[in-house]
Amino acid sequence: MDINKVFENNQNWIASKLEIDPHYFEDLSKGQNPDILYIGCSDSRVTAEDLMGVQPGEVFVHRNIANMVISIDLNVMSVLNYAVQNLGVNHVVVCGHYFCGGVKAAMKAADLGILNPWLRNIRDVYRIHRRELNAIIDENDKYNRLVELNVQEQCVNLIKTAAVQKAIKERDMKVHGWVFDIQTGKLIDLNIDFQAILKDIMEIYNLGDFHHSEVNN
Ligand SMILES: [Zn+2]
Repeated sequence: MDINKVFENNQNWIASKLEIDPHYFEDLSKGQNPDILYIGCSDSRVTAEDLMGVQPGEVFVHRNIANMVISIDLNVMSVLNYAVQNLGVNHVVVCGHYFCGGVKAAMKAADLGILNPWLRNIRDVYRIHRRELNAIIDENDKYNRLVELNVQEQCVNLIKTAAVQKAIKERDMKVHGWVFDIQTGKLIDLNIDFQAILKDIMEIYNLGDFHHSEVNN
């Protein structure tokens, strides 16, 4: 790829936007009011806006390797808290994808340096669900199921945060677990039963009634 092509593409993109609406960028500069926070994988094939068919300004996006929500990752936690508390999004999505290199790498017996502690969180997902996963014989099926279970566990991690607990209580904010199927282009809602999960984990992770307290992680 010729890197200079990017600037040519940009000029064409500007022209195409202005053709439809001469005030497009003027309006865009006035502010953002996204209703969705999307947490997805950095994989170059899984472009957040494209696969959802949304425009600039509609979705707040965070991407990292294997769409992880890790409580001590200042990056994802900053994005989450800002989106939920300041932007007031009503939906938080964790979107994984089949054939995720990050998920596959996590299960390899290899020293991946700085990626070790990051990907170890996926091994933890495997450990929690190992009975189900060990019963799957086909290797691709096993990894793809791990992708789904990883999405589910990252959604659980979202629910462990004070910001999300507060927003669910106060404005019925929704948490969604999705998977993008690279082979078909389809976005699949895992229909995770969050009421059940919430009930199950709040006994342990409840961070308060939020009447007077400030929100922390
Ligand atoms: Zn991935």
